[in-house]
Amino acid sequence: MSMQITIVGGGAAGWMTALYLNRYFSHGNKPARIRLVESADIGIIGVGEATVHSIRYFFAALGLDESKLLQAAQGTLKSGILFRNWMQPQEGQTHEYFHPFEANLSGLPWDISSCWLSQNEKANERYDLAVSSAAHLISQGHCAKSRLCRPFQGQIPYGYHLDASLMARYLREVAIARGVERIEATVESVDCQNERILSIQTSQGEIGGDVFIDCSGFRAILMNALDKDNWHSYQHCLPCNRAVALQSPLKAEPRPYTLSTALSNGWAWQIDLMHRQGGGYVYDGNRLLPEQAEAELREHLGQFDGKANHLQMQVGRREAFWHGNCIALGLSGGFIEPLESTGLHVINLGVRLMATHLAGSVGSGEAQQRIRDSYNRQMCGIYEDLKQFIVLHYCLSDRQDSAFWRQAARSAEQCSGLPALLDLWRHKVCEFMDLAGSYTTTFTDENYRYVLYGMQHYPQLHFTPSPALVAQMKSRQAEHIRHLQQHTLPHSAYLGFIHQSAKNAQVS
Ligand SMILES: Cc1cc2nc3c(=O)[nH]c(=O)nc-3n(C[C@H](O)[C@H](O)[C@H](O)COP(=O)(O)OP(=O)(O)OC[C@H]3O[C@@H](n4cnc5c(N)ncnc54)[C@H](O)[C@@H]3O)c2cc1C
Repeated sequence: MSMQITIVGGGAAGWMTALYLNRYFSHGNKPARIRLVESADIGIIGVGEATVHSIRYFFAALGLDESKLLQAAQGTLKSGILFRNWMQPQEGQTHEYFHPFEANLSGLPWDISSCWLSQNEKANERYDLAVSSAAHLISQGHCAKSRLCRPFQGQIPYGYHLDASLMARYLREVAIARGVERIEATVESVDCQNERILSIQTSQGEIGGDVFIDCSGFRAILMNALDKDNWHSYQHCLPCNRAVALQSPLKAEPRPYTLSTALSNGWAWQIDLMHRQGGGYVYDGNRLLPEQAEAELREHLGQFDGKANHLQMQVGRREAFWHGNCIALGLSGGFIEPLESTGLHVINLGVRLMATHLAGSVGSGEAQQRIRDSYNRQMCGIYEDLKQFIVLHYCLSDRQDSAFWRQAARSAEQCSGLPALLDLWRHKVCEFMDLAGSYTTTFTDENYRYVLYGMQHYPQLHFTPSPALVAQMKSRQAEHIRHLQQHTLPHSAYLGFIHQSAKNAQVS
């Protein structure tokens, strides 16, 4: 008998899951039946507009057309995140650093970071400008692609800015066209027995399934019915538990990067789409009232006149993402603040792992438990590593202007393992093996270095490379930047090309 998969929730998590599982299980000897239940009365969260670069491989694996996706979701390209004001100004200068998606040049006996550190270049040139070309490209308004780049490929890695509601709608259209059954209904109750879901009662009647996937957002309607204590909070080290979001028409060319500016009790994002700009403030709701946060955000953004969207966030993760025959994914599975735009990426990782684990999940009770344990161990690891990387951004700050920031400087103490790493990285360059053994597929040593050295957490190196080697490294880097400047397009030109060609294709 083929597997019956019932997904509850039609936000990004629900439709990404439906599409991937449909692609994975729709052929072969026993194609699965995939149903998605979404409520017309309960909206999707409607935020979550920036991605990391590896989401491209997920969209490619779904067999999506990149230009159509960009057009449908009014998308733009993203080369990384510009962090502003995360440290105190120095000599009157606003503190800024860029965290690109790009990998460092390699091939010489000394890595480029060690060269930069050992030459005491810190005072002369920002780390990201010395070791990455993306920082130079964005300062010239260039994106990662040229007109000749193939879909999902760039001269350097890139992610997207996508309108969350439009993207969910587009994924829904594709999924339905491919055979996913959509049921518009609200789940009213969940029938559970022996830690399993037997069926769900909805406004359209009873719906069964072998596997139930909870993509119902922060409501977590299935997982909470099964086990409401299945939760591990991150509030102690990541205190931002509220957000307020605003939208405004775009008044300038869209930027090929996300802007993250530290404010009094958290930080604000700015994301440019084709048709509008989104701005939001992620803040500590125990220190700031929603109206205070909204006022501070409006002052920060300038002319954003529209109505604000206030959100409450549960920061943490499931103890067990897969419990009985129910798997929680997306906001119902866990949430870590969107500082590094990882929400959609974790859904991508979760659904891929889910597919391989589900494909082997038949068998005895003991075998099924091993499958669940494996999935849960990996998902917990992914969240723990992500939490550590986000805490890194806070604990390195030297801001003293509010109790929030003074507390943030101590947040590493709440994150086991991080203080020891920070100590190590006072004595040696941060490298891959320092993080090995963890689940750090998302953010590796290169990402850590952009944050560490962008926030002035340097090691003292006593052995220095020869001036000749440093000169060779610098000249290779300069050549690389020149090459990329010639072989990438201004962001606006690329977007004009892609959005126009998708429109032309629609007409013809
Ligand atoms: C402030 C903020 C900023 C974010 N920024 C980013 C970002 O920049 N990048 C990123 O990758 N991620 C970001 N995220 C995370 C991202 O928004 C989510 O991971 C993503 O949108 C997935 O949401 P979801 O599908 O799990 O939930 P939702 O979008 O909330 O969807 C829930 C679905 O469940 C349905 N539902 C609920 N209850 C019932 C019921 N009883 N019966 C039937 N259906 C029901 C709803 O109708 C809806 O369809 C952000 C999140 C927040 C809070």
